[in-house]
Amino acid sequence: MPTDPKHAIGPNLNRREFLGASMGAALLVTLGGVLSCSGRKGTVPTLSALPYGESDLAPVISAKTIQFHYGKHHKGYVEKLNKLTSGTAFADLPLADIIAATAGQSDQQAVFNNAAQVWNHDFYWRSLRPKGGGTPPSALKQRLEASFGSIEKCKEALAAAANGQFGSGWAWLVQDGDRLKVLRTANADLPLTQGLRPLLNIDVWEHAYYLDYQNRRADHVQAVLDKLINWEFAEKNLLTQAT
Ligand code: MN
Repeated sequence: MPTDPKHAIGPNLNRREFLGASMGAALLVTLGGVLSCSGRKGTVPTLSALPYGESDLAPVISAKTIQFHYGKHHKGYVEKLNKLTSGTAFADLPLADIIAATAGQSDQQAVFNNAAQVWNHDFYWRSLRPKGGGTPPSALKQRLEASFGSIEKCKEALAAAANGQFGSGWAWLVQDGDRLKVLRTANADLPLTQGLRPLLNIDVWEHAYYLDYQNRRADHVQAVLDKLINWEFAEKNLLTQAT
């Protein structure tokens, strides 16, 4: 699989490969490429370093929330994954292959959940940045306006997905061929298994906001969209020649 250094989450995500392969070999290859930057490198499962200091997202997300969210929850998924895969056929597989091999397998739900949550959180921390929000860079801005009508409409769609997710889950901006879309997933689920290329995500598990906002998820989501969302990261993930 060739790599493309222009794109932060790896080489081309070929939608036909995804849709045609189900959970087959092509999906494994494709997921492997997309997920190659994850915290689990080859057979060495790790907790990825935060791309900023734990106080740098305050006041929207406090240092205390980061300490628990990154230092307890995210770290916990890494540790649980290692415990579950130790001594099994998954122990020597990269994270990407574990996700692809366990997606939709009811007898591997715990392994999938922890592997996917490691990936989702690696992606989430990079979907935010200090002094984020604002106007997206031009290539992404054009795509967003073509797909949603305006940046504001895209933000409204992301907020609606985040706030409309019943219980735990994620809101996502994804690329589907030439179009950008917003979708939500429950619990650990992620768009990769639907053949969609993630551009950014927002964590709406209660642990992401409860210490700072209690039950006010909508206030948290709006503040994230206005002040932290990392449009530059999303643009890096954009395929300019979608297949
Ligand atoms: Mn989380």
